[in-house]
Amino acid sequence: MSETLPRLTIGGESVAGADGYTVLNPATEAPFADAPACSQAQLDDAFAAAAHAQPGWAEDDAARQAAMSEAAEALLASEEDIAVLLTSEQGKPLADARREVQAAARWFKYYAELDVSYQEAHVIEGGGQTVALFRPLGVVAAITPWNFPVTLAAWKLAPALRAGNAVVLKPSPYTPLATLKLGEVLNRALPAAVVSVVSGGDDLGRLMTEHPTPRKVNFTGSIRGGMAVGAVAAADLKRATLELGGNDPAIVLDDIDVPAVAQSLFWGAFYNNGQVCGCIKRLYVHDSQHDELVEALASVAASIRVGDGMEAETILGPINNRMQFERITELTDDAVDKGARVAFGGRRVGDRGYFREPTILTEVSDGLRVVDEEQFGPVMPIVRYSDVEDAIARANASNFGLGASVWGADETRAAGVARRFDAANIWINRHGVIGPSHPFGGSRWSGLGVTGGLWGLRAHMQMHAIHES
Ligand code: NAD
Repeated sequence: MSETLPRLTIGGESVAGADGYTVLNPATEAPFADAPACSQAQLDDAFAAAAHAQPGWAEDDAARQAAMSEAAEALLASEEDIAVLLTSEQGKPLADARREVQAAARWFKYYAELDVSYQEAHVIEGGGQTVALFRPLGVVAAITPWNFPVTLAAWKLAPALRAGNAVVLKPSPYTPLATLKLGEVLNRALPAAVVSVVSGGDDLGRLMTEHPTPRKVNFTGSIRGGMAVGAVAAADLKRATLELGGNDPAIVLDDIDVPAVAQSLFWGAFYNNGQVCGCIKRLYVHDSQHDELVEALASVAASIRVGDGMEAETILGPINNRMQFERITELTDDAVDKGARVAFGGRRVGDRGYFREPTILTEVSDGLRVVDEEQFGPVMPIVRYSDVEDAIARANASNFGLGASVWGADETRAAGVARRFDAANIWINRHGVIGPSHPFGGSRWSGLGVTGGLWGLRAHMQMHAIHES
């Protein structure tokens, strides 16, 4: 495989890394590939080429639309190549990896077709006219995590590009190859140097944030990483969009039809093996339905085949990396030591690869790490409640504010609860569903700024007001 591995894309050229590092396959723990590591000099080249290419790219919106539509088609045409790399480095089942590429293409197509005519507004006041214009920021640095490398790359690239910016993108060191491949594919559809893709460790992300060329950093990752990026960006007054961690609560109201919602609740928590920023991470269930729902969720969990994502029967793959695997093990063991009951799971699967059973814990409450912290893996604690006011208060008692959901048969009542969540993204009878036109952001420690739709576009633009007499 090594001769076909993707390389860095810098300034429109395919470039070998100045150095390299090993990427493991999480299903086998065996080295899967040598990824290129980008040096400071190569990063300088990428930013210089982006700065050079950006004015031409910004000039012609129709050309941008055409190139981005072509990019969407090119991604679909390379779906299998990208998906195989993604499963090999990330672990997710191949069908889910393909869906990531499809989602990336959808984001490109959406932004290619977005009506941006609103971008010039005229205000008349006091006998004069003011023209409000939005213009691209210039060069954007984009940094992504390992859970959805391909989709999240498109979340960052598509609005930035349509706005007329050039982008230098860096994936997580755990999952660089699918993104490098995406860079090669995009480079064939877009003008040279409009998108460069570099790879390396966290240090490379820091160098990107410190670099004087980009005027914005668009970061998705942990709260710790986001705080570090925000502090460095602030020193240069770079704009920053930070999409960070979450510990999403879901409240199940007492009128729910348990058999009808069990599958949706399960997948609201366990999609991508729970490695989703906005998935259910704490489930608050009314006393009257607690036992029935626990049993239903345990039975869904028991039906799931955990295995290598390249095998067709696999429904959940491995956890992406050893650190995360150990964290999930530790949080689960800690809860069990403190009296939690395992309704299903709780164990490693096999003795090679980062596999764990999808785990449902009961007899847990706030104050336990597995409830209070973002697990980001296949474990879900179920907290029993008897008073919905108490459940809402517990759901909101957190530094996180990414997502939340309420589940109930009476939609009006559910909508009333939904409006009381202190979270940026709130769902009713579903969780985590996001399309390219939706505003998506985080409140409190879950992030700064909004991505998606017109909001995401404007987040990559500077407003200018021209006052005419
Ligand atoms: P991470 O913060 O460790 O790394 C994310 C990316 O940032 C990687 O590319 C990494 O190399 C880089 N990085 C790390 N430290 C940096 C620094 N100081 N300066 C610049 N770059 C740096 O996060 P992770 O473990 O890869 O991802 C998991 C986290 O991402 C979870 O907390 C999850 O909730 C969050 N996430 C959030 C969203 C969202 O949209 N809110 C989406 C997906 C994942």
